[in-house]
Order: sequence, then C-alpha cells, then structure tokens
Amino acid sequence: MLTKEGERSMHFRKLLLLAFLFSCLAPNLLTAGTLKVYWIDAEGGAATLVVTPAGESILIDTGNPGERDPGRINKLIREEAGLSIIDHLVVTHFDRDHYGGAADLSKLISIGTLYDQGVRPQDRARVGEAYLNLECEARLVLTPGDELPLKQSANGPKLTANVLGILQRNIQPNGLHQPNPVPSSGYSRKEPDLSHNANSVILLFEYGDFQFLDAADLSWNLEEYLVSPYNLVGEVDVYQVDHHGLDRSNNTHFIHSIKPTVAVMNNAHKKGTGPQTVAGLRSSPGIEAIYQIHKCTREGEGHLNTHEDKIANLKSGDACDGNHLFISVAADGESYTVNVPRSGHVGKYKTR
Ligand SMILES: [Zn+2]
Repeated sequence: MLTKEGERSMHFRKLLLLAFLFSCLAPNLLTAGTLKVYWIDAEGGAATLVVTPAGESILIDTGNPGERDPGRINKLIREEAGLSIIDHLVVTHFDRDHYGGAADLSKLISIGTLYDQGVRPQDRARVGEAYLNLECEARLVLTPGDELPLKQSANGPKLTANVLGILQRNIQPNGLHQPNPVPSSGYSRKEPDLSHNANSVILLFEYGDFQFLDAADLSWNLEEYLVSPYNLVGEVDVYQVDHHGLDRSNNTHFIHSIKPTVAVMNNAHKKGTGPQTVAGLRSSPGIEAIYQIHKCTREGEGHLNTHEDKIANLKSGDACDGNHLFISVAADGESYTVNVPRSGHVGKYKTR
C-alpha cells in the first residue's frame, strides 16, 4: 500500500511524463491546421506556394524555365512542406517568369489541376508545345467569380480562394462591396497597358479574418478598376506586391484602398523595388512591415530597401542562396507570423 508521500510522488511522476509527451507532440499540434504561404526565390519571377490547413498545395506561378526555378519549387514542396503533389497550379498570365517553369516542373512533381486564362490562338506560339502538352490531371479555364475547389479542414474557419478578375475583366460589385471611401482625386493614370501583364489572374485568399491578395503583374490603371468606384477587394492583411514591385504597377490609390498590414515583394536585385511603389507602401495607412525576396542593389537606391532582417536574400547573381520566406496563419485565422529563415526574423501580426 502506498503512503501519502508515495502517492504524491507517483502523481508528480505522471505529471512529468504527461508534460514530456505534450512537449514532443506540441510542435505537430501547433502546425496542424495552419495556413502557410511560401515565396520561393525565382530571381525576379513569381512562385508562391499556399499550403492549406487540410494539407493541399496551391502553387501560383512557376518561375522561369530551366533547372533553377522548377528545382527550387520542387525542393521546397517536398522538403519544407512535406508534400509530393501540386494539387492546384494557377498560372496567372503568359509571361515567361510566371508560366515559363510549368513544363519543367511537371517533370519533377505531379500536378493535379492546372488553371489558367485559356490559351487563345494568338498565344499558342508564345506558350509553346511544352506548356500546351504538359502532364496534369485536368485543365480548367478561370473566369471572374470562380472559386478554387479547396478541401476544408475539420476545425477552423473556411478557406476560400476567389478569382476577382482575369483577362481585364473583374467581378461585378454586389451588395457586399462598399463604394470606396478613399478619395481617388490626386492620384494619376498611366499609359494603357497592352502587355500580357494586364491579363493577370487576381486571386484573393480568405481564412477567417485573414486575407491575402496575389494579383500577379496587374498594372496601374487596372488596379484602379479593382477599387473604383467600388472596392472589390476590401482590406487585406497580406499583399503580394504587384509586378515584383515595379512602378508600372502599384497604383498608390489602390494600395491605400486595400490597406495591407504586411507587403511581400518578390523582387530581384535589380528588378522591382520601384521608388514610387516603395513610397506608396510606406505611406499606406495601417502598413506595419514590408518584406523583400532580394535586397535592391541598384546604385544609389539602397534607401528603398526594408530592414535587412526582413530580406530573404542579400547576395546577388551566382552568389544568391535562393532563400525563401513564408507566413504561417494560426489555425483560428486570428494571427500570423512572417518568417525569414535566413535572418531568423519572425514578425508577429494580428489579422484585421
Ligand atoms: Zn513577372
């Protein structure tokens, strides 16, 4: 028979064992149900990977053709995300730094559904046979108002990914959209954009109170139509800076209307990080942090860089390590962190 003393020490040992077991399991418990977004370094191209709380992968754009970008994407999906398939691949438009890596990537990893704007006859030669014939389970053409068919996790809020616009057509305002209260007077227009950038897919992710906008390379005047006269986007937590941070995009009125808390710029050492873009982001009401994939190394423009801890890659050219950065949204959608593995920086933010 145990004495009182003996019972107490047995109880204490049980508690210790429980605490030990919990500390082993806790990291998995804490990451299960989170939403992650990774920005893979495509050296001035785009490759954004979303891993959903239900464990699906959505890749938005594939970087450039060749070994480098598809190789980095494949490695990150397998080694960081621990997945072996791209369930949904969204190609936002037919510029090389976005669709270019798709065919090479399909040889490295299985692709579920490929979504794009549809290859029009005039674009067939541009995208080439490799893209037209790449191996995937299904191909779908997106139109404004489409919602990607995503699996939902058992707990946690609903995750949606909606197409707000594509091929220069946006969703129609409905009763939920507000007339934009941010005055547009004082903001200029630019020359019409006749390039493929204008056709970009505009994709809005929502997970509870968390919103993430990826509008690819949408350009200045078209950004205006997204927020005038109705704000079709609303306010977002995280904004992937349009067009790698080039000043042909990133209309100041648009940025100030969607009011991001965090901006992530998939720039290159000499591409993007435009002075007007950076000024528009820094003056945006509610902005808390700007992150960059690369440090801008253009001479005399070092002042455009964010804090060095918030930059994934400091070295340029062949010396570039190809580091990624990622956000992790809590299972309840109430908060998120932005992580820069190179520097160890972890920024903590509340969703709005
Ligand atoms: Zn681009």
